[in-house]
Amino acid sequence: MAEPVYRRVVIKLSGEYLAGSHSFGIDQGTVDRIADDLIAAQKLGIEIAVVVGGGNMVRGVEVSSQGVSRPTGDTMGMLATVMNCLALEAAIQRKGSPALALSAFVMPEVCELFTRAAAHKALAEGRIVVLGGGTGNPYFTTDTTAVLRAAEIGAQAVLKATNVDGVYSADPKKDPAAKRFDRLTHSQAIEGGYKVMDATAFALARETSLPIIVFSIAEPGAIGAMLQGQGRGTVVAG
Ligand code: UDP
Repeated sequence: MAEPVYRRVVIKLSGEYLAGSHSFGIDQGTVDRIADDLIAAQKLGIEIAVVVGGGNMVRGVEVSSQGVSRPTGDTMGMLATVMNCLALEAAIQRKGSPALALSAFVMPEVCELFTRAAAHKALAEGRIVVLGGGTGNPYFTTDTTAVLRAAEIGAQAVLKATNVDGVYSADPKKDPAAKRFDRLTHSQAIEGGYKVMDATAFALARETSLPIIVFSIAEPGAIGAMLQGQGRGTVVAG
């Protein structure tokens, strides 16, 4: 078996993915499958923190076009990420592995507050850390959160789990001529305007010299394969 390439990583999971084949909500089968993958990846000896999105429930931009302000809509979106976070924490724990949900918001009845110290402690104890609440600030995304948290906790890479096997020049589902990249620099990713991640996330990754690996999570075992340098994806690195 190939040796893992990283010691500590942050994995970004979109909320949309947690909905499975549905357009809204949490698909338990999908959450269970991802929990299995995360547990198997952690058994390779890698410390794993997961940043969970909320797009399966609320996106701030969308609800703010329907009557609430953008900061309020974004707060609703961040709370949605906490719900996903609790679902994933519960699924990992149900399978007998230790997990800890940490939120960017103070909500003592729900879960602990994210601090670097709490994350370091939980990771050192062998728990999978599940991060909810985004950055805690409106106008940001959970992609940016993943890069921010990775930099804060000293992770060596961000793995961005998607439905496609890397970054393409255009949407490969719509444009058969779309070109797939094996490698891009952060600057190329920003200048290319590729939709896979927002420019703020790429810019922070450039600033903090963090590689971002974009890969498809569709196949069971994909996370472990990527962490052993065996999977197919696009590496965005300086
Ligand atoms: N959000 C935010 N600040 C953050 C992270 C997220 O305001 O730091 C809000 C924003 O409204 C966003 C929603 O939470 O639309 C869900 O996050 P995201 O869109 O990143 O989730 P994903 O698309 O990955 O499921």
